[in-house]
Amino acid sequence: MSDILPIVLHPHRALRQVAETVTDVDAAVASTLHTMLETMAQANGIGLAAPQVDINKRLVVIQPEVEGEPGNRKAKSATPPLLMANPEIVAKSDEMIDSEEGCLSIPRVFDVIPRHAWVKVAYVDEHGNPREVEGEELLGRCLQHEIDHLNGVLFIDHLSRLKRDLLAKRYNKILPDFVEDTPYPFTQES
Ligand SMILES: [Zn+2]
Repeated sequence: MSDILPIVLHPHRALRQVAETVTDVDAAVASTLHTMLETMAQANGIGLAAPQVDINKRLVVIQPEVEGEPGNRKAKSATPPLLMANPEIVAKSDEMIDSEEGCLSIPRVFDVIPRHAWVKVAYVDEHGNPREVEGEELLGRCLQHEIDHLNGVLFIDHLSRLKRDLLAKRYNKILPDFVEDTPYPFTQES
């Protein structure tokens, strides 16, 4: 595969599909994960799910140790990224935390979303080994956001209808500027 894949923009059918379980984490799957990682870095993102690059598989990459504000994040390269097949939340806190969230597939709009304060996620790494990771704060939020993508759920779905409508208006207004700037390769057709 090439080093970078175009990121699909909302609304795109790929973002609303339930992604398929990966039955065998082979070299091709590992290669896809690395391509996703390159794509995420190019787009200055902290997480990317396979449906966002129009691949209908349960694959996620995350590099949550970042500095800066949403939309201007900078990865701390010392922290290794998470490359995950079939990630699944196996435990979570009752406590919810509100924080601002955005998405590479819904660029340049952000809103405050409630998420579990802590989650434990089981997954298979790029070598085919079963693993678990626990996350709170930004990592916990990122895990929940990306796993949502695998189920066809977007962060805007967690907003009230009123807020979602307001955000949709902002997004539609902002989108032409984004398309003109082309800060990363994207696909729009739905
Ligand atoms: Zn997203």
